[in-house]
Amino acid sequence: MTEKKEEKVEFKAEVSKVLDIVIHSLYSNTEVFLRELVSNASDACDKLRYALLIHPELAPETEPTKITIEPNAKNGTLTITDTGIGMTKEDLINHLGTIARSGSAEFISALTGDKQKDMALIGQFGVGFYAAFMVADKVTVYTRKVGANSGYVWESEGADSFTIKEDETLPVGTSVVLHLKPEAKEYLEPVRLRYLVRQYSDHIEWPIILKNEDKTETINSSSALWAKPKTDISPKQYKDFYQTVSHAFDDPWMTLHYKAEGIINYTALMFIPTKQPFNLFQPDRKSGIQLYVNRVFISDDIKGIMPNYLRFVTGVIDTNDLPLNVSREMLQKTPVIAKIKKGIVKRILSELKKRSEDKTDYLKFWESFGIVFKEGLYEPIDEREEVAELCRFHSTLNDDIIGFADYVNAMRPEQEHIYYLSGKDVNTLKNNPQLEGFIARKIPVLLLTDPIDEFWVQTYQDYKGKTFVSVMHAKQDLEKIALDAKQDGDVLSEKQSKAITERIKKVLGDKVNDVQLTERLTKSPIALITPEGQMSLHLEQLMKAHGQQIAMKSERVVEINPRHPLILKLADLIERKEAEDKVNDAIWVLYDQTLIAEGEPISDPALFTKRLSGFILSGL
Ligand code: ADP
Ligand code: MG
Repeated sequence: MTEKKEEKVEFKAEVSKVLDIVIHSLYSNTEVFLRELVSNASDACDKLRYALLIHPELAPETEPTKITIEPNAKNGTLTITDTGIGMTKEDLINHLGTIARSGSAEFISALTGDKQKDMALIGQFGVGFYAAFMVADKVTVYTRKVGANSGYVWESEGADSFTIKEDETLPVGTSVVLHLKPEAKEYLEPVRLRYLVRQYSDHIEWPIILKNEDKTETINSSSALWAKPKTDISPKQYKDFYQTVSHAFDDPWMTLHYKAEGIINYTALMFIPTKQPFNLFQPDRKSGIQLYVNRVFISDDIKGIMPNYLRFVTGVIDTNDLPLNVSREMLQKTPVIAKIKKGIVKRILSELKKRSEDKTDYLKFWESFGIVFKEGLYEPIDEREEVAELCRFHSTLNDDIIGFADYVNAMRPEQEHIYYLSGKDVNTLKNNPQLEGFIARKIPVLLLTDPIDEFWVQTYQDYKGKTFVSVMHAKQDLEKIALDAKQDGDVLSEKQSKAITERIKKVLGDKVNDVQLTERLTKSPIALITPEGQMSLHLEQLMKAHGQQIAMKSERVVEINPRHPLILKLADLIERKEAEDKVNDAIWVLYDQTLIAEGEPISDPALFTKRLSGFILSGL
């Protein structure tokens, strides 16, 4: 046998960075390394079984599938061995030399410095294997892929490189040897290992064997939790299972476990997390649902098994209605998946409906996932009605979040439309002058603060026949519904109206497209609106924030309150042709103030301050 050459390979930059964090800042809760390595071993066994279904001729090379954990107190090593699929040289370089999942940049930028939170990220971003370096100062991987001519030894001390060496003598499968750090010696104790496997990996289908000084024992119960009757499962078992399948650290907000029997047969054990996972908005994120056929793992990346607006749901679906050797292409097309999807969506929505009756409880869900769930208002789906009933919003009605049904109940009898106002946050929105006329008439308004709200209001046609109208474009209802307290007092005459609108147009020039009188305002002198069919201020800000070039700036219309004393005073001065400069300054100050209130930049802050100081001085 010729001596094989050792090859040194540098880690990709992001791996070094992640390793550095793993090694130096995540030393609390180091025990999850075992969960990650056992989960990789189990995945490898799943993959082998699947490969043998398609290539049965490879079977003679393999051994019965199992996972062995072997502490060696003398050498200070802990070895996790699986008789699974194994890795080729390319696999080693690609999977243990880079961060497999895209999104490592997001991972690094999402790190908070808070150990608990950063820990939670580790599983989510697929840096699972690197968790080994929390407890080991050197890791050696012996592996051989089924069907390959040779095996390889991978070794690293976790700094910035690893070595690879060919070894023809290795059997099929993978052995990960951890050279434990002095402070991680607790992981040599059989009691500790037994406890950790029970805690994190008990449901793993393959036998997990603890090998200690020639004694061997199986330490997991290997039963698929979802296949047990609900009554035999404790809340803690559900929680542990949730944390394992979801790589999560929180409690599930919802646990949904049922068996569907009929035209289509499957068992589902699904969860809604309490907290938003960090990768919820990554486009290439895997679905959180694992598909099993008759307890055999098939895939955890089945496109379309869950609609996008429910992509935060995680768990397991196990069915007998698909053949075991189902191919990926077939999974995309089979009507079985479509039917299962229909079934699970229906169950999730009806469960959410039940939970929505407890407002405080439902608020927790909504705060984490409402932003995603609302995508259901514009995705092409059949269950739009049900989704709409489950959506919640802030409004001018009260401080709670309300549904469309609550809104419709609170509508004025003469009111035809559902009104909304969108912007950055609820508090700013509540003070927006645009709302004054609505509040005075007790017409409720939805306050929308998520970017996606701008999209569904355009595409979600109507709720029970009531169309959505921005408060900026409300006309009929405001004119039709009388104010509770009649607005007495002076109002601009026709002549004054004409004079003041003309003056404002002249002063503000190309800043605005038009000036109009309005019934919308009761307290403020003026407001700025976007004409119908134009991009709203909020949307314009959003697009700018996302680096979008906006070809044309939206048009703005100034609306004036014909009963406001300030407007009446200005009109009076204009009519009497007095204090022309002061009037013009006042128009600028009013305009700039309104921009500020809406969170828009003003064109000349210095000039604004100078004008304002002038007025303050003359008022003192
Ligand atoms: P993840 O498991 O989320 O993909 P990991 O960092 O845990 O991320 O593992 C990276 C990849 O390394 C795995 O996807 C797999 O391809 C490979 N791998 C790790 N451990 C094993 C193993 N025991 N057998 C075969 N492949 C493995
Ligand atoms: Mg893993």
